Amino acid sequence: MTFDSDIGFPDHLRVAVVGAGPAGLGVARVLRDLAIPDVWVLERGQIGQSFRDWPEETRLLTPSFPGNVFGLTDLNAISFDSSPGWSLRSEHPSGRSYARYLEQAADMFGVNVQCGIDVLAIDHIDNGFALQTSRGELTADFVIWACGHFGAPTDAGLPGAELGRHYGTVSSWDDIEEDEVYVIGGYESGIDAAIGLAQKGKEVIVLDSGAPWLIGDKDPSRSLSPYTQQRLDTFRKCLSITLLPDADVIALEREDNGIHILASDGRSWLSDGPPVLATGFVGGTKRVSEWFDYADDGVPLLTAQDESTAMPGLFLVGPEVSHQGHLFCFIYKFRQRFAVVARAIAARMGVDTEVLEIYYDNNMFLDDLTCCDDDKCLC
Ligand SMILES: Cc1cc2nc3c(=O)[nH]c(=O)nc-3n(C[C@H](O)[C@H](O)[C@H](O)COP(=O)(O)OP(=O)(O)OC[C@H]3O[C@@H](n4cnc5c(N)ncnc54)[C@H](O)[C@@H]3O)c2cc1C
Repeated sequence: MTFDSDIGFPDHLRVAVVGAGPAGLGVARVLRDLAIPDVWVLERGQIGQSFRDWPEETRLLTPSFPGNVFGLTDLNAISFDSSPGWSLRSEHPSGRSYARYLEQAADMFGVNVQCGIDVLAIDHIDNGFALQTSRGELTADFVIWACGHFGAPTDAGLPGAELGRHYGTVSSWDDIEEDEVYVIGGYESGIDAAIGLAQKGKEVIVLDSGAPWLIGDKDPSRSLSPYTQQRLDTFRKCLSITLLPDADVIALEREDNGIHILASDGRSWLSDGPPVLATGFVGGTKRVSEWFDYADDGVPLLTAQDESTAMPGLFLVGPEVSHQGHLFCFIYKFRQRFAVVARAIAARMGVDTEVLEIYYDNNMFLDDLTCCDDDKCLC
């Protein structure tokens, strides 16, 4: 199928960026700074769609504060010259507010975004890629995959998972009718669900195979964020939140009077309504998985420039990027790789990259991966 030219942009792109979340928009901005022509961000929904789809009550965990002019870029900013803390006047914006910041940023940066294009598959062709999209076929010299993972909720293979409802499908905790709600999974989204539900007057029981709320890892990608920990400490004192550790849930089964939640040690609980599955998100690259190699733990294998080891010319930006065991799953982490990817593409096009100095100057360019040293003391 040829491309639907009615929507008025070239059917051959120098760079196709797939996904208009913080990662796609942020890397497109750097490519714009390099004056690379015909860079388009292709988005199946609207700008910031994942944030629009968050539960209404969910807030960003990472705080926003406009320190940019002192070289301390707002943790949630996608560029050194923007700040959601300043533009939204909010420290922990909601998903819908953050999507508004992304829209303003895309406009301010002058990046080309085309919404309503779902990229269904990519194929390798001579000198580039063919993208099969919901509007026809496009070609591109380079592809940057920036699809995040919110659109890829996982039920962790739990038998009977269809009897639950995944965190990622809830639009508001108001939509849950039962007075007592079980949440399966006690990490960030599970505790966020518990707090959101308890604030609506529900009795909440969180089941987890371990006790993630007790993990004291220095990396907030591996332990509860201070924001969630603080809210949990506050609300556990006054609201009904029960945390049950060592509850390894192995199946959900429908009973006449509800849904049975079964644990590996023989315990079980009866839930009136569907339990909330806070079992995480994985596999944002699933749709193009044939073009990536994966480590045993499912992490896509990337070169030092975040290019697929299986397909030269295909790059990955966003929370799925991982190097040497370091997870880049927060905005303030993965934005440090935008300029690395942009520089690699520019170099292949013969474009001068001097302009990227400003990213070094603003601490937005993590090139040497040995810099992220786990052993730095934070106590
Ligand atoms: C509940 C929750 C709270 C979080 N809180 C924080 C936080 O406080 N701070 C933080 O830094 N991170 C937070 N994160 C992590 C968060 O996932 C990322 O920071 C951020 O969303 C990743 O940005 P992204 O651009 O890679 O992906 P997304 O924001 O998910 O954007 C991907 C975009 O790609 C589009 N898309 C997907 N597939 C296709 C396709 N095939 N074709 C076209 N378009 C496509 C989607 O519609 C979407 O708009 C949170 C995550 C969750 C789930």
